[in-house]
Amino acid sequence: MESFGFNTALLHEAGGKDPSTGATLVPIYQSSAFSHDSAEELERIFENKAFGYSYTRINNPTIEAFEKKVTMLEGGIGSVACASGMAALSNAFLNILQAGDEIVAAPGLYGGTIDLFRDFEAFGIKTRYARENSPEAFEEQINERTRLVFAETIGNPKLDVTDISALAHMVHSHNLPLIMDNTTATPYLVKVLGLGADIVVNSSSKYINGNSDAISGILTDGGTYQWTKEMYPGLADYIKFGKMAYIAKLRKGLFRNMGACLSPQNAFLNCLGLETLGLRMERHCKNALDLALYLQQLDPEIEVNYPGLPQSPYYHLAEKQFSHGYGGIITLRAGSRERAFRIMNRLTIPVLVSNVGDTKTLVIHPASTISLFCTPQEKAASGVFDDLIRISVGIEDIEDLKADFKQAVEGE
Ligand SMILES: *Cc1c(COP(=O)(O)O)cnc(C)c1O
Repeated sequence: MESFGFNTALLHEAGGKDPSTGATLVPIYQSSAFSHDSAEELERIFENKAFGYSYTRINNPTIEAFEKKVTMLEGGIGSVACASGMAALSNAFLNILQAGDEIVAAPGLYGGTIDLFRDFEAFGIKTRYARENSPEAFEEQINERTRLVFAETIGNPKLDVTDISALAHMVHSHNLPLIMDNTTATPYLVKVLGLGADIVVNSSSKYINGNSDAISGILTDGGTYQWTKEMYPGLADYIKFGKMAYIAKLRKGLFRNMGACLSPQNAFLNCLGLETLGLRMERHCKNALDLALYLQQLDPEIEVNYPGLPQSPYYHLAEKQFSHGYGGIITLRAGSRERAFRIMNRLTIPVLVSNVGDTKTLVIHPASTISLFCTPQEKAASGVFDDLIRISVGIEDIEDLKADFKQAVEGE
């Protein structure tokens, strides 16, 4: 397993072909339910005493094929695919939390996650934000009610890079689990479980799917955290499953009952898109670095933020932590909101949309869109300024992108 490179392993290992027909990609099992020969057999499946499919909200061969691929890529012991990245995050957190518990989170989070943490307050779950993305700053927020620590590998849109080994080391010294959102980096850049994170969540709507044709999310458990019933009373009945305790609780409990399952069709689209993840990421990273270097010499008034630029405060960490590149997202500070809008409106190639990780270059003004519902303090902490443009660099021909940005920046 370890001897294969990223792409070979992705294409030839774990959940590739359909075991029942030999189809080279598991087909879309577009079925809500699966029949069995006897009442006893179905009973055994429901009791988890025999393996089998029963109902697509619980499991399905196409969804399982997608889960197996991501489990292999992230180096975990099991995954649960969900209807969206937000559903995967909700499941990942609520599987272990109860009223009175606290989360310690990174300052530069995705806006949707900040909103979600605010929603959790109604259920008695509080989130404390670290004042900066350093292990010491996270540690300051930990108290006896803390039950998990959460960060993004590369913050979206702040583009701060988390030092995963150092953070995991600190978090484990408090006997807590570390949950990472790896959406912007993907397992192509870094296997966060290998660096000490306990659970990893990906919004597979982004790079994993790659073509913006299906919303989905997936969480993967590394099986490394030792759950105790004292700290996590909800897991008491599952501790007997050992390493599988967390996934077993999800599958028999919250995930099944919240019902935010993935559709088989979207699982198939993800399996299809996933095959070229390595190839696309290679190009995204190369184009992003080229474009960042180009943009910073184009206009000194424009501040370019990219972890692959040597002046980035995260450059050395990114260099050490990531293989093959620094990700596909760049942000620009245009000087004013008006200029940011003018540049965006003059661009002809990039598409103005709210997501990241498409084959096409995408741009957005976060302050007026995805971070609209964040408070001014939350915006500041997430690096969302009024003049900020986020660019998710696509796989186009780089010379075309450079020419388009040149005319957009210089056309004042
Ligand atoms: C998009 C995104 C999410 C949410 O995923 P959805 O699939 O849109 O629900 C979570 N985290 C990060 C970092 C994201 O970019």
